[in-house]
Amino acid sequence: MARTDAVALLSVNAAKGREFDIVVIAGCVEGALPRTAWPQGLFEAWRLDGDRDPVSHARAIIDAERRRFVLAASRARDRVSFTSAKIDGRGEPSRYLAAFRPASATGAGIAPGTAPGTDTSADLGRADPDAAPLGPLEAAGALRRVATDQARPAAERLAAVATLAAMPATTAATNPATWWWRRDWTEDPDPIATDRRLRTSYSRIGTYEDCHLRYFYSSVAGLDDRTSYQMAFGKLMHTVFELAAKGEIAEDPTTLKAAYRARFDLAWFPSRVVAQQYWRDGMAMLALWHDGEAELAKRALAFEVPFEMEVGDHVIRGRIDRVDRVPGGDGEDHGIALLDYKTARIPASDEDARRSLQLAIYYLAALRDPELAALGIPVEMQLVYPARAAQGRFARARQRPGGDHAAEVERRLLPLLDGAAAEQFDPNPHADCHFCAFKPICPMWPQGEDFLAPVIPPAGLDQAGLDAERAE
Ligand code: SF4
Repeated sequence: MARTDAVALLSVNAAKGREFDIVVIAGCVEGALPRTAWPQGLFEAWRLDGDRDPVSHARAIIDAERRRFVLAASRARDRVSFTSAKIDGRGEPSRYLAAFRPASATGAGIAPGTAPGTDTSADLGRADPDAAPLGPLEAAGALRRVATDQARPAAERLAAVATLAAMPATTAATNPATWWWRRDWTEDPDPIATDRRLRTSYSRIGTYEDCHLRYFYSSVAGLDDRTSYQMAFGKLMHTVFELAAKGEIAEDPTTLKAAYRARFDLAWFPSRVVAQQYWRDGMAMLALWHDGEAELAKRALAFEVPFEMEVGDHVIRGRIDRVDRVPGGDGEDHGIALLDYKTARIPASDEDARRSLQLAIYYLAALRDPELAALGIPVEMQLVYPARAAQGRFARARQRPGGDHAAEVERRLLPLLDGAAAEQFDPNPHADCHFCAFKPICPMWPQGEDFLAPVIPPAGLDQAGLDAERAE
């Protein structure tokens, strides 16, 4: 069954016999549409086809190209756009575009009488979209734009809504029940945190610290279901390191590589090139492990240690990649180090590590979780970067607890936990938005600024009125 949420990328010839709501014909330039240069054989075989002279032969080619152009343009049920662009400053729009007149009097697209070659932007789709809709889908879109434009007169907006209501509700575009912009936020009587007691993970509350709204979208609304190839690759490397450190596989390079090869999956990666890069990175990490890190890993006391602790009225859970003992100068154990592996190539600075909420939570967990507390006193938390060597081992960035570190961490955590439990989900103007997937629905960004706008239906018209009108 054909997918409705996808585009089809076709040559003109392959589009024959097919139809689409919207068609974009890319590259409408002289030389491509129509093609003006053809591969010629040693002999001019076309001369065998009757007694055509070169001029009539060229004319026949141009006619055939025009038919190709018309074939492409006629595949659209609703809208067709043509694009043409100069390459290295050269190129002219296709001569066939001059046959089209703009869809509106605004002059967008190819103006009447415009000679080919004077307009390099031949996108009729950029004409005023409300001026002359070509089909029901476009008409519905144009009417919805009028209805939601608060700058327009109320009578115009009301007329647009009434017209929409009169249109057959055969598509989502004409069915008001599917228009998100007509809906206000719903009040959920059930609080997210029962009795204001939040149960969350260290990574989620870290997101909340950066941006409350991002936490809401990803953790509360459950919109962030991405699993990245970086995560899959990171897990693979942890597994191989852990097996080697526990002695479950031999330390020699051949065995390490065999364990790595057996678990590496090309299907995780977006392309073969990316997979090859990661494959090489993994091999370099194994070499580094073998040459220096394996010796250090002999201090490991535990791997993948889960924890759960109370902070105020709330509960934070998580998992620590590795716990090492830290020997003192006298050879006796001085305490424990809590390690978190990172797949990033650029290590965090010591200052970033010192401020890391994740490492701070590890520290508190090592004091409060019974299983972790039994391993020793935490004296150091480390972010470990297998992709970067430092002194022949994996690079590290560290956080070391001061005298009142536990109290400081708790002071930092409590307002965050209380805020998330109280459902305070404002976006943060100072958040690190660079990798945020929610920009299209975030009011801090132009593409999402309408998302949380108040909904003001045209005067005298509400959903019940619309429904009643449609039923008549
Ligand atoms: S784009 Fe920035 S402000 Fe908006 S939700 Fe994402 S992190 Fe927060």
